[in-house]
This record gives sequence, structure tokens and C-alpha cells, in this order.
Amino acid sequence: MKGAEQFAPEQMVGGPTAEAAYRRPNGDAPRDAGDPLCLPPGISSKRFKEFLCRLADISGDDHVTAITKMEELSQESYLDPSKCHDMFHVFNKEDFVSSAVVAPRNVGEVQAIMRLCNEFEIPVWPFSIGRNVGYGGASPRVSGSLGMDMGRNMNKILKVDVDGAYALVEPGVTYFDLHDYLVNNNLRDKLWIDVPDLGGGSVLGNTTERGVGYTPYGDHYMMHCGMEIVLPNGELVRTGMGALPNPNADPNAPAHEQEPNSCWQLFNYGFGPYNDGSFTQSSLGVITKMGVWLMANPGGYQSYLITLPRDDDLHQAIEIIRPLRVAMVLQNVPTLRHILMDAACMGDRASYSNSANPLNDEELDAIAEKLNLGRWNFYGALYGPQPVRDVLWSVVKGAFSQIKGAKFFFPEDQPDNLVLQTRHDTLQGIPSVTELKWVDWLPNGAHLFFSPIAKVSGDDAVGQYQLTRRRCEEAGLDFIGTFVVGMREMHHIVCLVFNRKDKESCRKAHWVISTLIQDAAERGWGEYRTHIALMDQIAQTYNFNNNAQMKLNETIKNALDPKGILAPGKNGIWPQTYDAKAWAIPRPKR
Ligand code: ADP
Repeated sequence: MKGAEQFAPEQMVGGPTAEAAYRRPNGDAPRDAGDPLCLPPGISSKRFKEFLCRLADISGDDHVTAITKMEELSQESYLDPSKCHDMFHVFNKEDFVSSAVVAPRNVGEVQAIMRLCNEFEIPVWPFSIGRNVGYGGASPRVSGSLGMDMGRNMNKILKVDVDGAYALVEPGVTYFDLHDYLVNNNLRDKLWIDVPDLGGGSVLGNTTERGVGYTPYGDHYMMHCGMEIVLPNGELVRTGMGALPNPNADPNAPAHEQEPNSCWQLFNYGFGPYNDGSFTQSSLGVITKMGVWLMANPGGYQSYLITLPRDDDLHQAIEIIRPLRVAMVLQNVPTLRHILMDAACMGDRASYSNSANPLNDEELDAIAEKLNLGRWNFYGALYGPQPVRDVLWSVVKGAFSQIKGAKFFFPEDQPDNLVLQTRHDTLQGIPSVTELKWVDWLPNGAHLFFSPIAKVSGDDAVGQYQLTRRRCEEAGLDFIGTFVVGMREMHHIVCLVFNRKDKESCRKAHWVISTLIQDAAERGWGEYRTHIALMDQIAQTYNFNNNAQMKLNETIKNALDPKGILAPGKNGIWPQTYDAKAWAIPRPKR
């Protein structure tokens, strides 16, 4: 099979493939004046110009931008995110860059763009806002792809149904937008949203990537209901109950404008195979609308912090957390955060230490003492009327009191604790951008997330902590991480902060994440999501029964997208029109 024949991870280490296709997708083709920094693979300058004209016919000149100059890769901040390159690049800035960006104004234009990309055989990479920083942002896996900015013009909250407790949103609706809508319409006393750590990303994009938040509705994919999707051939699909027409809809209107079935956002599964999951972390469709369940205001709320004094408390804490979480005594998605995760929100590295080495245990203890925090800090919340909260708190407090030296705080006990005050908002669905701060731990701070799934068990948590901390230290980095406790597992999020303007720092960050992926797979641990540069490597670790899952994914990909135009390489799935081996990104040498 040409597309995605499997190759052993060691084949990806450094060496002969170091000048792989991903760096020079169009080989040595000469560039004409006015050409983009990177043409799509196999496309001549002349053909690309023709393509841009046709694109402008669809979406209008104002909504098509060719990326022709290095200065267009100047954005560096989450607050003003790039729409065409990876702001947190571990390689060169121009390694994952779009040839042009189009911002469709409606679903009909998305359909027309897909057809045009098929005609020209040009890859297209959809994104909603591009604030998926740490995982690649808006940048495409295949340089020279057309970026499709779904959020710029398609950013309406189409519906908020109070009785049904749901919203229907377009791709550009951010967590801030949805929250503001509830506040401005006096609906917060009825409905809450769930937000991730940073609220500037889109509800739809975060859910598509299976991101998490921290209220009882923290599993975003679990709480979505119904999608509208443009397939690679331009066809429009509504999933679940959306496939059943509304008898009152105008059958002569374009499909995307037809009034949907009134149960579309109420029942996920409809009839027959349930397809939604196939469109998450996937290259099978462009999502144009999505339903999201909102949480009923619980009628009372209390957030809290429990500080645990010793590094070794991790094991016991996780053993305490598991039964409480499984029984839903812990009602939300709580987090157990390493001291540096909190410290980094309150100051950069230089404000704590001038040591060139990773901070040692004595230094970490000193930081914890200075900040009145533990080596591990547990942030949770209680939801419901006072009597309910009182009972739950007595159980939670009783359980954590088994840990010697554990201390218990409500936000009013530590008014100056920025993290506690921020978690107080986040855990009730109020968005913020405060936690951006930890990225500034190092000068020119950028980050990659290493995000393995862990059993909620003391042994697994300690095993992952020791492994990731050791590898970080070998690379000269400080360990910064958090355990995010889901319904039955933990997302262990390790924040690999590096200096994006220092090549050696970038190289080390790439080395450490790539090494950790390998280490983790050898222990049966896999990641839930990753940066575009690591997608191939992680996909190769999910290889049960001779890569049966990858073969299934490729079969579906090739059937729905025979020319391989939609997000080739996304999550390690290469269409038959690409040579996966040539496109693989080599693992860095030590
Ligand atoms: P955010 O909205 O959080 O800023 P992004 O816009 O960066 O997130 O999207 C993250 C990733 O999710 C994209 O790189 C893309 O793979 C996928 N994605 C986002 N929006 C869509 C969409 N409307 N259709 C299909 N895939 C999408």
C-alpha cells in the first residue's frame, strides 16, 4: 500500500530522511515573484494563481490571502493568533505554513471550496480559530495546504434553547462568546457552559479535538449533540437526529439552510451507525455546525483547594481520588497540579531561581512554602444547594485528611492566590486567559503538550510522573504538569515549555516529547492528542493486531477522500495519494 504502509518507529530516527518531504513539499521548483512562501505539493506557480482566482470567485477577494512574505509569520501570541503558521514551532517557523488562507462566508462556500480543491488536487486544512496552540495552532501538517479559516465569518450562536439546555454554534463561536451570550441575555442563573483553561478557542474546534474542561460537563465530546459536516466531495451531512428532515423545513432551500429536526440537539445517536466520532481528530469532514449541551445552573457552588505537602503524597492522593470520582462524589473534572504549574502562573523562572539546572526538590519545597502551596495542589468544586454541598464536602475533606499535612482552602481564604481565584471561575464555566502566563516560564516561551492517558491509580500516576520528570530533567527542562481526572481515567498533561528563539531549546523539547512517546508506549501508555509534528509517531504506537485500526482509518479515508485533499496527515492518517514514509518527520537524535 502506497499511502500509509506501516514503518517501525526506529526508521524515523534522524539520518537519511532528515530532509524529508515535509520541509520541501514542492521539491526544488523555482518560485515566481508573488508566489506564496510554500506552494502546495506538485502545484506550479501558474496553476496556483489560477486556483486563487477561482477561490476569490467563491469567497470574494477580501476573504482570500496568499502567504507570500516571512513578515506574515510574525504573530507570536495566543491573544492574536496566526492563521497560517505554528507560533510554537519546534522546527523552523516556515516548516508548517499555509500557501493561502480562505475564510468562507457560509456553508455553500465551504462546499464549493471542497469541490475546487478536488479539481486542483490541493490539500486544505480547516481550523476554527487557530488557538489550538501547543498542538500546532492553525498550521497545516502539509506545508502549502490551503488554510480554511472557518471561524472568521461563520461565528454565530444559532440557537440557545433554555428548556432543552443546549446551544447550536458555528465554528467561530468562542467560549467567551457563548458565556457572554448567557450573561447578556440574563441566562446565567439558568445555564452554564464548560470551559477549558483558556477561553479564547472555539467551542466547536475544542470539541472536535476532544478537549476537556473542568465542570461536571468537562468531557466536551461527551456533551456535544449533533453535527453538520461538509464531506471531502462537498456533500452536506447532518448526523444523528439531524438526518431526519423537519416536516416544516422548506425543501427548496439549500440543505444547510433548512430548519433542522427539533430533536437534533437532544438525542445523539439517531438511527443506524453513529458517525460523529469519525469526524473528531479526523480528516473526513469540515464541521459547519455543532450542538452542545449546557449545564443547568446547579443552584449553589463552592470551589476549593487542597494542598498536599510532599512530592510522595501523589500516590495516596490518587488512591483517594479514584473511588470518590467513580462514585461522583467528586462531581466535576478536578485537577491535581504540580507546584510548578501554579508557580509558573504567578511568575517566570527567573523570579524563583537563577539556577541553570532543572529545579531540585529543595528548591521546589522552597517555592511551595513561599506561595503557601503544596508540592501537589488539588482543585475541585462542589455543586448544588448548601445541604448537598455540606455533605459532599464532609466526605471529600474526610478522605483527604488521611494525608498528613493536607490543608483545605476556599477562595476567600487566599484572595491573593491567582490560581485559586482563576480556578474558582473556570470550575463554574467562566472563561479566562490567566493561565496563559505559565508559557512565559522561559524567555520567548512556547510549549508542547505531552498528554498521556493514565489509570486513576497511585502506581500509574507515580510511574508517569517519575518517567516524565526524569526525561524533562535529562533535557534540562523543569517538569510542569497536571493530572486532569475524568470519569474513569486521567489526562496527564505535561507542559514542555521551551524557548522558541533558541534552536537548542527547540531541539531538546522535540527530543523529550518524541522520547517520551516511545517510553510511554513501551509501558502501555498512549496520548490522547498531539502536535502536528508528532502525529505520525503516536499513530504508529496504536498498532494492535498489525495496525488494524490504521488500516480501517485508511480504508475510510480513501473511500471518502480519494484524492486526499482534506487534512492529509492529520493524526497520522495519510491518504493513498501521499507516500507516508517520505512525509514522516524524523525523530531527533539525542
Ligand atoms: P480552536 O478553535 O480551539 O482555536 P483550532 O481552530 O486550532 O482550535 O482547531 C484545532 C484543530 O481542530 C484544527 O487544526 C483542525 O484539525 C480541527 N478543526 C477545527 N475546526 C474544525 C472544523 N470546523 N472542521 C474540521 N476540523 C476542525
